[in-house]
Amino acid sequence: MTTPDSQPVPSTATSDPLRILITGSAGFVGSHLVERFLNEGHTVIGVDNYISGQVSNTELFLEHPRFTFIEADVSHGIPYEGEKLDWVMHFASPASPHYQQFPVETLMVGAQGTQNGLELAHAHGAGFFLASTSEVYGDPHVHPQPETYWGNVNPIGVRSCYDEAKRYAEAITMAYHRSRGVNTRIIRIFNTYGPRMRPDDGRVITNFVHQALRGEPLTVYGDGSQTRSFQYIDDLVEGISRLMMAQYHEPVNLGNPDEFTMLELVNEITLIAGRQVSKKFERLPLDDPKMRNPDIILSSNLIQFKPSTPLGLA
Ligand code: NAD
Repeated sequence: MTTPDSQPVPSTATSDPLRILITGSAGFVGSHLVERFLNEGHTVIGVDNYISGQVSNTELFLEHPRFTFIEADVSHGIPYEGEKLDWVMHFASPASPHYQQFPVETLMVGAQGTQNGLELAHAHGAGFFLASTSEVYGDPHVHPQPETYWGNVNPIGVRSCYDEAKRYAEAITMAYHRSRGVNTRIIRIFNTYGPRMRPDDGRVITNFVHQALRGEPLTVYGDGSQTRSFQYIDDLVEGISRLMMAQYHEPVNLGNPDEFTMLELVNEITLIAGRQVSKKFERLPLDDPKMRNPDIILSSNLIQFKPSTPLGLA
């Protein structure tokens, strides 16, 4: 991530060694956080129940002397009895469209899982960091979406198990901050991609890349005019690391504002594949947002957040 000048921006890279517990450590984002914090000299405790994560993501770090792993469902409690924690980072939640196969588990980890993380942070006097999502904006009527927009969410639709779980998670995080003084952070993550995503996770980038690699037509939902923005994982991790060092407790968007229609994304994939790729059109899923784009004025002012990895070849 580039900064406007050479002034170093505070981040975990320059902080004293921290003890950080990460729920969802075997997932895509969680495993990149584990890697970053271990490389910076911090101690990491990963917790995961593998509902959507991968054992191979835990195995990457198991030999590391500053990494320990606890297999547990954090909705039922976080069985950590070790030394005093500096941070509890709650990233556990089925995230890709596959959450629709686990609607109750998704609601529980957003509700009970978040409260268990907050209680643990409170008991240790630790910071609590919540991974929320751009899905809290639903199918937005405001574009791009600033943090002040309250969203347009169907509370009983097929996506509601995820959207409402995260909205509740944000609410209880603010409640623990306001009434119990927990030092909290909330980020709203916009579509993020990178290594270690599950090939079958159902997100559009992995779908397109794997269809292109297998020589299959790319599945485009609707007419392909709906837009998304795509953030590279390293930019997200840098934003998280900086926000940990900023005293700011309300939600912060982290995403890349470069916006693509699905048809433009097909063109990018075609360029990268280096050969012609065909498309097949299917019906738009229920409650699919027509556009999604982060307003990152707050994060750029607060932590000089500036995504530096473009999606395409350009
Ligand atoms: P992921 O599915 O790869 O990782 C989530 C991890 O949480 C998995 O390893 C899963 O096994 C674990 N988990 C789920 N429920 C659990 C439970 N009850 N107990 C213990 N572990 C549990 O997803 P991801 O893309 O890495 O997402 C991580 C976080 O970031 C999620 O909270 C997600 O909502 C949020 N997020 C991600 C994106 C994105 O584009 N990747 C966008 C918005 C928000």
